[in-house]
Amino acid sequence: MADTDVDLFVIGGGSGGVRAARIAAGYGARVMIAEEYRMGGTCVIRGCVPKKLMVYASHVHEEIADAAGFGWTIPEAKFDWTTFIANKDKEIARLESIYTANVEKSGAEIVKARAVFEDPHTLRLSTGRTVRAKYILIATGSTPNHGAAIPGIEHVISSNEIFHLKEQPRRIVIQGGGYIALEFASIFAGLGSDVTVIYRGDNILRGFDEDVRAHVRSEMEKAGITIITGCTINRVERHGDVFTTHLTSGASIASDQVIFAIGRHPNVAGIGLEKAGVALNPMNGGIAVNDRSQTSVPHIYAVGDVTHRINLTPVAIREGHAFADTVFGNRPTKVDHSNIPTAVFSQPQVATVGLTEAEAMAQFTHVDIYKTDFRTLKSTVSGNTSRLLMKLVVDGETDRVLGCHIIGPDAAELIQIVAIAVKMKATKADFDATMALHPTSAEELVTMRAPTSRHVRQAAE
Ligand code: FAD
Ligand code: NDP
Repeated sequence: MADTDVDLFVIGGGSGGVRAARIAAGYGARVMIAEEYRMGGTCVIRGCVPKKLMVYASHVHEEIADAAGFGWTIPEAKFDWTTFIANKDKEIARLESIYTANVEKSGAEIVKARAVFEDPHTLRLSTGRTVRAKYILIATGSTPNHGAAIPGIEHVISSNEIFHLKEQPRRIVIQGGGYIALEFASIFAGLGSDVTVIYRGDNILRGFDEDVRAHVRSEMEKAGITIITGCTINRVERHGDVFTTHLTSGASIASDQVIFAIGRHPNVAGIGLEKAGVALNPMNGGIAVNDRSQTSVPHIYAVGDVTHRINLTPVAIREGHAFADTVFGNRPTKVDHSNIPTAVFSQPQVATVGLTEAEAMAQFTHVDIYKTDFRTLKSTVSGNTSRLLMKLVVDGETDRVLGCHIIGPDAAELIQIVAIAVKMKATKADFDATMALHPTSAEELVTMRAPTSRHVRQAAE
């Protein structure tokens, strides 16, 4: 197309959009990227990064408690929310400027504006300008769900607001039993708040391995978090600075904040998709794409949360990179969405890669489970009562390790490494042949000799 202003217009300066813009510009494409809020997107500004900083802040109290067993006397420690938030904001601003500089260095042009489709090749910016592009990448991410419009929903906040609270809530009610609910439940409990989690099902972390769900719930309850299952919030009242949350069970709870963490929906509204002719996936409400992230309109692509495939930062980045390689680098690339490691940064951490026991049993006729549940060496002296869980799910016929699940300190760091072995199709024999590194907790991964359970599906009569 000769009459275009740019080769690529990227809508959204988050994980997926930034990577795609930089790589495409590196291939020599004329690239413009629009961001309506802050460069870096959800992960950097109000997701993974500030959340992890809060996780670090909340862990300090456990370190202090553990120190006593090792002979340390530490004067009463105090946490100052305002200092922490200011330091966190400084770091986020630094990262935002690095993201901006890296995009600019690549040669792509950043426009600080909202972009919406005017027609399949034209974007209108909130500054009033229009831009014509040969290719367009939609990387607009996702936004928090608020659920049904219950009375008092205006008093409820989402993860977006948590990062900017003026004060630490002394008492907090969180609805949801997934990643965000459990991470913030642990963060606030670690900082000393009184936390209640309300979850609609019978146990938190639906979709995770059953042993993992049971173990993490019991550990979180041991840490003082109240977890109420089998009900939802149907009304929230405000009396001055105090909120009363009413549950479908008839109970009510007083708190200083009420948070809903009940999933996120793809950011598809109000961006003119109908003018561009871009179709949605009726199954999940995200933008429908093929395995090259191409939408129903051949020159328009979409990556990251807006496609509602697997909503994690490294996935959005990989999809953005693969798009740029495919369209501008003459290297057609598909993203492999199998065996993606993931972690819930709760306290204790939950980290997993591959299949759960139930998924393996549904797909394989012979499944062996290796499981261990123990107190770490450190906790024997510190007096910490938390227990670590490690579980391997193995195909009993080929000996291949199909899944690994860890709950405990640094579980996420461990799973990142185990994921390499799982991706390489390592067998249980490969794990066993690896020499243990002593004394560590991780050595259990290579020393679990006998299966703790074995499932063999009988052939149908
Ligand atoms: P985003 O990063 O959301 O970027 C989209 C960008 O588009 C936004 O900046 C938005 O302002 C902009 N935008 C939207 N519409 C327009 C428009 N019309 N014009 C211009 N700009 C627009 N993932 C992990 O892997 N690990 C974690 O630990 C983790 N923790 C998380 C914690 C929280 C609280 C949350 C909410 C998410 C977390 N995630 C985590 C998920 C991760 O943040 C997302 O999967 C990731 O950011 C998705 O990247 P994206 O590029 O698709 O979208
Ligand atoms: P999740 O999908 O993880 O959890 C949503 C929770 O809300 C589930 O427990 C769900 O219950 C419950 N729920 C859904 N709808 C309702 C409703 N109408 N009423 C009451 N409860 C409801 O979403 P999150 O919001 O926690 O996080 C969004 C996504 O962001 C995650 O899925 C993940 O992809 C990403 N993320 C990743 C993180 C990480 O990598 N560490 C951290 C934070 C977010 P049910 O299970 O019964 O459906």
